Amino acid sequence: MALNPADLFDVRSMLSEEERMIQDSVARFVDEKVIPIIGDCFDQGRFPKELIPEIAAMGLLGSSLPEKYGCAGLNGVSYGLICQELERGDSGIRSFVSVQSSLCMYPIYAYGTEEQRMQYLPGMARGEILGCFGLTEPQGGSDPANMKTNAKRDGDDWVINGAKMWITNGNVAHIAIVWAQTEDGIQGFIVPTTTLGFSAQEIHKKMSLRASVTSALFFDNVRVSDAQRLPNVKGLKGPLGCLTQARYGITWGPIGAAISSYTTALEYSKSRILFNKPIASTQAVQLKLADMARRITLAQLLVLQLGRLKDAGNMQPAQVSMAKWNNCRMALDISREARDILGGAGITTEYSPIRHALNLESVITYEGTETVHQLVIGREVTGINAF
Ligand SMILES: Cc1cc2nc3c(=O)[nH]c(=O)nc-3n(C[C@H](O)[C@H](O)[C@H](O)COP(=O)(O)OP(=O)(O)OC[C@H]3O[C@@H](n4cnc5c(N)ncnc54)[C@H](O)[C@@H]3O)c2cc1C
Repeated sequence: MALNPADLFDVRSMLSEEERMIQDSVARFVDEKVIPIIGDCFDQGRFPKELIPEIAAMGLLGSSLPEKYGCAGLNGVSYGLICQELERGDSGIRSFVSVQSSLCMYPIYAYGTEEQRMQYLPGMARGEILGCFGLTEPQGGSDPANMKTNAKRDGDDWVINGAKMWITNGNVAHIAIVWAQTEDGIQGFIVPTTTLGFSAQEIHKKMSLRASVTSALFFDNVRVSDAQRLPNVKGLKGPLGCLTQARYGITWGPIGAAISSYTTALEYSKSRILFNKPIASTQAVQLKLADMARRITLAQLLVLQLGRLKDAGNMQPAQVSMAKWNNCRMALDISREARDILGGAGITTEYSPIRHALNLESVITYEGTETVHQLVIGREVTGINAF
């Protein structure tokens, strides 16, 4: 029996029936609703907000959180498969779901009070309340301990001042999860974006993640009550705990972008006739395609084991770093190589590889740059911090 070129080791056979069903339903949504419009959205620099109700109705927002809060209560492998299929469509759509789920709903669930969970999570799962996550600041995202945004206690309130940079969903969000220095260390606040003194400015001229909203946030004496503070975490472990969740999803997502690029190049190479034969029959192109298949297969096996570790409660941040580094690099290299196989046709958004390649420049940078994740692994194996 012929092997599936996009799943040479039949990783799908290691999924449960429920996991396969979830993957198939998200794949159908991406094929029918995302792929037909996403090239134009990218060209126009437009985030397709109109897809949010269906994404929510499918249970893709906060999918791993309990049903009690209106969420689907799925396991980690299912969340990974959702990210993979969404990113086969576009990294921007996956970024929207990652931010809403792992960076906004997760901290409310993990660090918030029961009142905060009930107030926000069901509406967020329905896609009626959108969130953004403000950690990175203009002076450097790789060193979040050097945070300048601060929150000062004033009676029952807190007054927040500072700025955040490169914030996904910033201009569409109803609430921002904001991390700020306090006398007691870094703390998180749920800030409604209608609060006086809060402003969001969309970042234009992006050549990457053009179908996603990215913003700068400004806080000018933004006053929130103590009931808006996330009380159950203090210090950098708060935002870093969210990032581990989001990065986990990002280990899966780029596999989708890589599969889209690789299958596009594979099909194209079979029908592109040069020197009287399809370019797929040349050794040079076959070497490239074989190498793509090899790297996709390794990535698929890596994330499935990572997901099983997560679901057993044994996933370590350094393992997430290795998978994020490997899979972003794999997908970026493959999408660039696929673009090359398409020749001139590869430079327009008629075909997916260049869009994925441009998007992956962000994906390999955000949530810890490639270098940062390499240094995490270096620290893990040597025991020496080289940051
Ligand atoms: C499209 C997009 C969306 C984003 N969304 C969000 C969001 O929703 N919320 C949020 O908080 N942030 C978000 N970010 C920010 C992102 O996480 C940061 O861009 C990232 O952490 C890198 O920070 P920086 O851009 O300030 O680069 P810097 O930290 O200034 O890094 C510059 C360079 O220095 C390198 N470097 C860093 N440390 C070392 C070292 N010790 N040794 C050697 N080299 C080093 C880096 O690898 C990089 O090459 C987003 C970014 C983008 C591009």
